Amino acid sequence: LKENNARHVWHPMAHTADSLANPPDIIVGGDGVEITDVDGNRVVDAVGGLWNVNLGYSCEPVKRAISDQLDKLPYYSIFRGTTNDAVIELSTMLRDFFEPDGLSRAFFTSGGSDSVEVALRLARQYHKIRGESGRIKFLSLKKGYHGTHTLGASVNGNANFRTAYEPLMPGCYHIPAPYTYRNPFNETDPQKLAQLCLSALEDEIRFQDPSTIAAFIMEPVLGAGGVIPPHESFMPGVREICSKHGILLVSDEVITAFGRTGSWTGARHWGVQPDLLCCAKAITNGYFPFGAVMVAEGVAEVFEKDETGKGSIGSGYTYSGHPVGAAAAIACLHETERLNVKDNAAARGKQLHEGLRKLFMKHELIGDVRGGHGLMCALELVADRATKAPIDKATIGKVHRTAYDNGTMVRVSGNNIILSPPLVLTEGHVDTILNALDAGLAAAG
Ligand code: PMP
Repeated sequence: LKENNARHVWHPMAHTADSLANPPDIIVGGDGVEITDVDGNRVVDAVGGLWNVNLGYSCEPVKRAISDQLDKLPYYSIFRGTTNDAVIELSTMLRDFFEPDGLSRAFFTSGGSDSVEVALRLARQYHKIRGESGRIKFLSLKKGYHGTHTLGASVNGNANFRTAYEPLMPGCYHIPAPYTYRNPFNETDPQKLAQLCLSALEDEIRFQDPSTIAAFIMEPVLGAGGVIPPHESFMPGVREICSKHGILLVSDEVITAFGRTGSWTGARHWGVQPDLLCCAKAITNGYFPFGAVMVAEGVAEVFEKDETGKGSIGSGYTYSGHPVGAAAAIACLHETERLNVKDNAAARGKQLHEGLRKLFMKHELIGDVRGGHGLMCALELVADRATKAPIDKATIGKVHRTAYDNGTMVRVSGNNIILSPPLVLTEGHVDTILNALDAGLAAAG
């Protein structure tokens, strides 16, 4: 298995040479918040699959819903006037769920990258229908991650995810992120930094000319970029600036929707209503590839009232509104609400963040501890606290490996250890994660 894995599986975001030299863990089982590898080791999954297995690995109602739907209707498309009953039921549930965010219409996709692609296309099309066809540019945050399709890659704020494929979409510009540990302003005060980033956004909009900009896309808490929560003034400030200039605000909530931040959505966490919201991942908890773009009524109306017919949407996927995905999502949403996972995310997130801050006092390797908004946390590891020089790959690999040997799977991304466990974990599981990290940092330090 290990040899075939290294030789024949092309692993996203990993180098083949690495997987040969350091064979990855082959996961063969999942139960609750734990996973089991091919050698029989059982560990707490502090990665939560890939930020998506919010309800854990043995959510019986979801499994049953998938199996029942497979028996009833395994597939029917929602293209060109046909539909299926599961997707209609899901859309009304989503309307209720996202009502406080001002979002009432769902465009279904097959995952997060699709959702970003659709949202950005809809933004351009929206302006076109309204006679503002010059609004074609997109703004986003440095450190932002928006998936791998061409539009998403173009707005990705991390050059590592762009340069291999350039030239990407022209007209995409990146604004400094409110990242207190490292930023071009050398500002460590979160509120002042938020203000500086908002000014940079205003400057860029002026420089580009507001009438050329279609949308600003951001994650309410930057995820893959290293879990970077902004100051509470930041997203409301972005909302205000976008509204002032007629720019649509797209909240990329592929990670944050459905409770991860301790609120039902990231935008709601900051008291903001976006124009479009991208979701995927926890919408089906990892049990089926699925996603949606939630659209504000005011945006949807523009498409509906278009008399030229251009409002008919020219994009969609064979698997848009897949009935099995819809059935999985319905069951996930019921469980998500029944278990009130957002409150557990807030409580366990607080415990985890506090525990990580204690590890900071103990381990020099930790340069920065980030979190404090539900179950999204990160440790940024450095070779030297004074210079903030990033840690080398072998040392962070040792933290990862030792943590695993001590019962916890964590994720390494650059010089960050990222934690995004299932939202249903217990106090004891958080202790396991912290003890494993303590052991990992001690071994590597
Ligand atoms: N947007 C964000 C914020 C993400 O975190 C991700 C995936 N990690 C994506 C988009 C892309 O989603 P997917 O991998 O499902 O295509």
